[in-house]
Amino acid sequence: MVPPHRRDEFALIDAFTRPFGVPASPFGPGDDAAVLDVPKGHRLVVTTDALVEDVHFTRATFRFEDVGHKALAVNLSDVAAMGASPLSFLCALSLPDDVEDAQLVAVARGMAALARKAGITLVGGNVTRGPKLSVTITALGKIPSSARPLCRDGARPGDDVYVSGALGDAAAGLAQPRPRDRQRRPAPEVRLGPALLGLATACIDVSDGLAQDLGHLAAASRVALELTAKDLPIGTHAKAAATSGPQALNWALTGGEDYVLAFTAPRRSARRLAAIAANLRRRITRIGSVVSGRGLWLDGRPLESTGFRHR
Ligand SMILES: [Mg+2]
Repeated sequence: MVPPHRRDEFALIDAFTRPFGVPASPFGPGDDAAVLDVPKGHRLVVTTDALVEDVHFTRATFRFEDVGHKALAVNLSDVAAMGASPLSFLCALSLPDDVEDAQLVAVARGMAALARKAGITLVGGNVTRGPKLSVTITALGKIPSSARPLCRDGARPGDDVYVSGALGDAAAGLAQPRPRDRQRRPAPEVRLGPALLGLATACIDVSDGLAQDLGHLAAASRVALELTAKDLPIGTHAKAAATSGPQALNWALTGGEDYVLAFTAPRRSARRLAAIAANLRRRITRIGSVVSGRGLWLDGRPLESTGFRHR
């Protein structure tokens, strides 16, 4: 750990780690590195993503708790998109001098609350001085060695296209002073992702917008996806905030930051998916189908030609 300027390094680390309670590892934090067991019969799934002040958030619109929550949430969403269950995570912080210790602890509190919900904890990290507040999480997950991870390239003609939860609420929040909670505090699909193993043929989390993310999935799978506009589960915030139907649809398609899962599955999986949705009390909506060809289609037209654009 590099000591932040004019701060007591050890007091700072102690204050930051306290909200997380007992460390999951028998060794570290406090040692040079964490030492972790990979659960027997599993493979490790690892991802990393940074949340940077004035790039991904501003202090005017995010509480410090929100920063901690979101930094972890976006990583857990990527873990879930692979069909993995979260195991633990590391956190590297860059800290400007004008962030008070109490504000740093608020970051930790927001992060720890989500970690507890996901049943995981912090196992290591780093603090350094920097010009902006930046929180980089490395999240670890596990997946049974016998299971095929949910990659982007497995969609096949004849599969259905599904999305979990609702779309457009985060974008609707961005367009208004309030509510912004969907954008500040996404709820990653930590339980749904692993439940889709063996059912979904391809999966991606919706971070950049449904159209863009499903575009990646279609390209990786070398197929075309035909979506039906009326079937898209537009969120209640997006519906309420939109001044027109096309605006709500635009948020749902291109707004991004919904952190739900978009995936494909064979028709025969429909009943099992409905059972999973009921069991997890999560909405899963069929929004289209996979056909041979390339690209993303909406109501029979190539999506690029429909005028929907990334914000
Ligand atoms: Mg992703």
